Amino acid sequence: MTEIDKGKPVLVTGATGFVAGWLVKKLLENGLTVHAAVRNPENKKKIEHLDRIAAETPGTIKYYKADLLQAGSYAEAMEGCELIYHTASPFTSNFKDPQKELIDPAVKGTKNVLEQATHTSSVKRVVVTSSCASIYCDATDLKDTPKGMFTEDVWNTKSSLEYQPYSYSKTLAEKEAWKIAKAQSKWDLVVVNPSFVMGPALNANVATSESMTLLKQMGDGSFKMGAPNLGVGVVDVRDLATAHFNAGFTPQAHGRNIISAHNSSFVEMAQLVHSEFGDKFPVPNKPLPKWLLLIVGPMVNKALSRKFIRNNVNQPWKADNSKSIESLGMQYRPLQETMIDGFRELIDAGILKPKK
Ligand code: NDP
Repeated sequence: MTEIDKGKPVLVTGATGFVAGWLVKKLLENGLTVHAAVRNPENKKKIEHLDRIAAETPGTIKYYKADLLQAGSYAEAMEGCELIYHTASPFTSNFKDPQKELIDPAVKGTKNVLEQATHTSSVKRVVVTSSCASIYCDATDLKDTPKGMFTEDVWNTKSSLEYQPYSYSKTLAEKEAWKIAKAQSKWDLVVVNPSFVMGPALNANVATSESMTLLKQMGDGSFKMGAPNLGVGVVDVRDLATAHFNAGFTPQAHGRNIISAHNSSFVEMAQLVHSEFGDKFPVPNKPLPKWLLLIVGPMVNKALSRKFIRNNVNQPWKADNSKSIESLGMQYRPLQETMIDGFRELIDAGILKPKK
């Protein structure tokens, strides 16, 4: 049972991120002081949305320069904080060297932040943003699960540096987090394991998240021949902020927590967007045949390798989100609202242009 004093500052690593933006907003709306750790506080384009929110809410934001790969980088930002949110980790399929660009920042960064927590006397709880990617590698793993669905007891055992390296980075990083947490008794660790995050970005014009890349691709014609029928779990970025908030401030929160609203698929997600925007944007509303996806997939997105397609297309995805509902009080919004609000934000930001 860990009680967090809301009068103390809260550290958010990777505050410029898609996921972190809504968490920072939630903290500021609740009047908290946020220590926002960012790579470059001088890059005003990356933080202007946070400044705007801070001006409109009762909370306060202070920026600290920190890099996951620099030891001791988070010391100043962590000073006086009881609660740490470690969200920073690269989420992209646009990489050349997976070791340097995904694994090192994920694993060394987790070590850097969590070891700093052990050395900082004020810290009582660390909430790590892991992923369902540390629970499963492919949708076909579902058949090996004890309950026929992904649960907090399941770990990803199949990803590697060569295959699904992002999932590998999240698995290794979460394992590192548990190892460091168990080696001390000063703070407790709560892990959130979100499925695929969708919904509106607060920073659409500068967003780097793979979530935004895929949402853009749904409307820019990349999938005009059809959507890959990939089974996925989906959660709204605004609900995920609530999950982080509750994971931090619920005294009895503990362990891993799957944060996933819907057992869905890319086809269902695209169809929901199509029903609202299909007349103006080339949004797919039918599945792309698997044989065709095997040809075009790797050209559209690096993550759509042939092995990935074989193990994930036309496969159902199912996770048990009951722990998040019972322990973190989660109430998830409908998928339609998530998809429509997310897509509309890309239009409003001028990123997606209607057909002429
Ligand atoms: P973003 O790309 O929007 O955010 C990633 C954040 O990590 C950015 O703030 C980025 O900073 C920071 N970062 C990357 N490398 C470094 C580094 N070397 N040093 C310091 N900061 C760094 O992605 P998301 O918001 O989608 O992801 C946030 C977290 O949520 C990640 O841990 C991700 O694995 C997890 N997650 C995301 C899911 C999703 O579907 N989006 C699903 C499940 C988990 P900068 O702005 O400077 O690049």
